[in-house]
Amino acid sequence: MGVLFKDKPLRLSSPLPSKLYWGLFFGVLGNILMLFSIEINTGIIADLRHLAIVIAAAFGGFIPAIIASVIIAIGRVILFGFSHAAILPSIGALLIGLVCGAISPLRLSRTLKAFVMNLCALLILSIIFFIKIDDLHTLKTLLTIHYLISLIGGFIAYHFFVFVVDSNETQYKLKETEERFRLIAEYSSDMITMHNEKAEYIYISPAVKEVIHYEYPELLGKRIEDFIHPDDIEETKESFETALSDGGAESTYRYRSSFGDYIWIESTLKSVHFEEDGSKRVIIVSRNITDRKLTQQKLQEANELLNRLSYMDGLTGIANRRYFDETLEKEWTNCLSSNSPLTLMMFDIDYFKKYNDTYGHLTGDFCLQLIAQTIKDQITGNSDFTFYRYGGEEFALILPSTIISDGIKVAQHIQETIQSLHIPHSSSEIADNVTLSIGLGTIVPTSSTKPQALIQRADSALYLSKTKGRNTIST
Ligand code: GH3
Ligand code: MG
Ligand code: MG
Repeated sequence: MGVLFKDKPLRLSSPLPSKLYWGLFFGVLGNILMLFSIEINTGIIADLRHLAIVIAAAFGGFIPAIIASVIIAIGRVILFGFSHAAILPSIGALLIGLVCGAISPLRLSRTLKAFVMNLCALLILSIIFFIKIDDLHTLKTLLTIHYLISLIGGFIAYHFFVFVVDSNETQYKLKETEERFRLIAEYSSDMITMHNEKAEYIYISPAVKEVIHYEYPELLGKRIEDFIHPDDIEETKESFETALSDGGAESTYRYRSSFGDYIWIESTLKSVHFEEDGSKRVIIVSRNITDRKLTQQKLQEANELLNRLSYMDGLTGIANRRYFDETLEKEWTNCLSSNSPLTLMMFDIDYFKKYNDTYGHLTGDFCLQLIAQTIKDQITGNSDFTFYRYGGEEFALILPSTIISDGIKVAQHIQETIQSLHIPHSSSEIADNVTLSIGLGTIVPTSSTKPQALIQRADSALYLSKTKGRNTIST
């Protein structure tokens, strides 16, 4: 019965059809039990049929108890023939059904209820035996044996039924859980895959199609790393090993889709240990994060650009005053810790106002651009020197770990380079071309001095060059 009705468990709350099936079959069971009976004398038989009703009532309540008792009552007549003697036991069976059915809703534990039902059934049977058996000795022996067998039989039958019900329930729940997990795996928009210790695919959820554009069987037995971008293989392998050894890991990598392009994938890895064979599996939940990655990349590029722009002079494209201030501070600290000299060169275009007045502001701009670019090209790549537009037509060069004499050499070189450009300047009072006045200062930073002292020194030297007639280098 347990196997037949495993999908229709018998409870007090079971639906009516379940109770009808169970009642019917308990009735059949009662009839089978009737076939294994002890015949006391003609018309009197003792057996365990009442246990079928007791169990039906204890588990399913009134309805299965009544159905079972009716079938047993009918069976009594059919199996042993309709006679005057058959009426009383049939009434007895119905009575047991009624009494057990009435006990079933009581607020008692199921085991206690079954015990009380068994006792009541025995009591009803005792009354029948009383009426039917005159011989007191026979009656005493019969009741003793009957009570003993009924109580032991009832105990065994009850607990056997509990075992059947529980194992059915466990199986039912297991099936339900499996079904639920199958649905979650199959309908999840994230791709769920399972791998053996060699990272080969042993299960792939249907989302494989949306996430990496493969058909389910294509990947089975293949290894993940065959699809990973070469630059990400090492990190992905490490994550897999971490998942195996520590239980879990996370990884972001590029995966080659069936179209040949690379998709950004974000995965969570968890390892599962199988006790039976000691093997380990890794379950990976993955999603496509290409769009997010692209947005992140664009944002990062925009940030870098913004950062570069904020340190760049708009007209000349070289570093601006803001960058100058930060770098000077940084180089100052470096030279302070290495106890080395820091040289600052500042230079200014001579008679530039007149240049503008003569050639126009736009030509003035070109002139600034040309000078900035020329000096930038000259210094980049061959030293730690950095070059800035300090403001207007003034520029600055930071020369870390440089003594003043080396600074002067750099200044001379710059002066010559600009002169060799031969930028005409007809209104200059000192030459036909654009010239520079240069000032240099050097300080070995100490904790008691500030970078402003160096600026002041270079600025004074520049002023000195101006007063000395321009187009010169002063320290
Ligand atoms: P000095 O030899 O004493 O340095 O004379 P100067 O004319 O060069 O100096 P002054 O400070 O009197 O004038 C600086 C000029 O530089 C005035 C300003 O119009 C010009 N100037 C500053 N910034 C720019 C710029 O971005 N573009 C152009 N075209 N001119 C600029
Ligand atoms: Mg100036
Ligand atoms: Mg000037």
